[in-house]
Amino acid sequence: MTYYALVPAAGSGSRMGESEPKQYLPLAGRPMIRHALATLCATPAIARVFVVLAPGDEHWPAAEMASLGPKLRVLHCGGGTRAQSVANGLRAMAGELGAIDHDWVLVHDAARPCLTVAMVEKLMAEVGEDDAGGLLAVPVADTLKRAGDGDRIRETVSRDRLWQAQTPQMFRHKLLLDALTAAPQVTDEAGAVEALGYAPRLVAADVSNLKVTYPLDLQLAEWILQNRGGGK
Ligand code: C5P
Repeated sequence: MTYYALVPAAGSGSRMGESEPKQYLPLAGRPMIRHALATLCATPAIARVFVVLAPGDEHWPAAEMASLGPKLRVLHCGGGTRAQSVANGLRAMAGELGAIDHDWVLVHDAARPCLTVAMVEKLMAEVGEDDAGGLLAVPVADTLKRAGDGDRIRETVSRDRLWQAQTPQMFRHKLLLDALTAAPQVTDEAGAVEALGYAPRLVAADVSNLKVTYPLDLQLAEWILQNRGGGK
């Protein structure tokens, strides 16, 4: 089995309110994206780590990334949406690597810096050779409300069997590219694969694998990274 990682990093991160793309904001002394890339490069089973940048990205700190070693490959083929960036990256990977239809691709957000090698290995172990693939996720803990007009509650939504999807999300290369080509409007890879009739496996993770979206998330991520005691 061969595993590759693909990190879409072509977003602007406008909800952070910064002019710099959020994946490059400083976090625990490094650009945010370097944390997840370091974890993926340090995972022994992963053969290569591809990062998809926006064409013309001037912020990529090439010198700082060189220390991550030879597994890391930079692709300048980001698209207008996350799904397009991933699909473009999958095509570019195949162009470089050749026949990888049945190999596994782990897609991970640049904005989830607290990923650990243990989380990645748990995902790989629990998905195994299941063609439907799978993803890290956490069962919903809060009570959910659907709003009606004027931010007033219209109804309470049962949280029974509801999970929050995280990344990495792992699928076979060909299945994922076929799925994203057929359903380019999805917000995660699993959504596209589900639309083809598959039922990807939910692998229990924890909330430390948070996605940095708003300014406070950056402080939480920093706390997690600094209090982990070298647990990568
Ligand atoms: O904006 P959001 O947090 O949903 O982005 C999730 C991931 O998708 C980030 O790593 C971001 O850089 C990436 N992305 C991308 N191409 C886009 C939009 C987002 O690679 N056009």
